[in-house]
Amino acid sequence: MEPMTNHTTPMAHHDYTDLMSLALDDLLSAEEQQRLDQHLAGCLTCRLTWSRWQRIAHVLTVQPFAGPPPAFMLHVDRALQRREQRRERMLAGWLLAGGAFTVWTLIALSAALTGALVLTAWPALRVQVVETLGYAGQFVTLIFQNLAALRDALALLLPNPLILLAVALALLLASGVWVKLVFYSAPARPR
Ligand SMILES: [Zn+2]
Repeated sequence: MEPMTNHTTPMAHHDYTDLMSLALDDLLSAEEQQRLDQHLAGCLTCRLTWSRWQRIAHVLTVQPFAGPPPAFMLHVDRALQRREQRRERMLAGWLLAGGAFTVWTLIALSAALTGALVLTAWPALRVQVVETLGYAGQFVTLIFQNLAALRDALALLLPNPLILLAVALALLLASGVWVKLVFYSAPARPR
């Protein structure tokens, strides 16, 4: 049996759009016309495309539009369809992101709720948690104090133009090394 049968797959839609554009110009053979009719009878997607194309072709042939040739308009229509598909994909992406956000928010909320319930049920545990949080808070405060000290030290040093110059030179040197590494070391040329 040949793999080419008269059974049509969704992959073959674009073959029929070619037949459709020929049909609009009355360029189909009887056999091709029959093939198109058969496919349209069984395929909703192509039937919708075909009716839309017929509408477009009708508008174009009605006076006073003696305008652009149908093939051009069909090309535009296909481009519009592609854009629609892209929009749909984008929308799906947003829905997915929104769904993920909702799910994670729900998980966080239920974790918080469970935590609150557990703390209400065991007051002793509550004291412990509060203590632990207190230690964590002290730790964070310590880090921030150190960061602030570092920032103040830097602020004292920065206005000194000599230090700025030294920093600039160091940066220049670093970028020189970087450029050398990136552009001149990769291809090992034969000598
Ligand atoms: Zn089809």
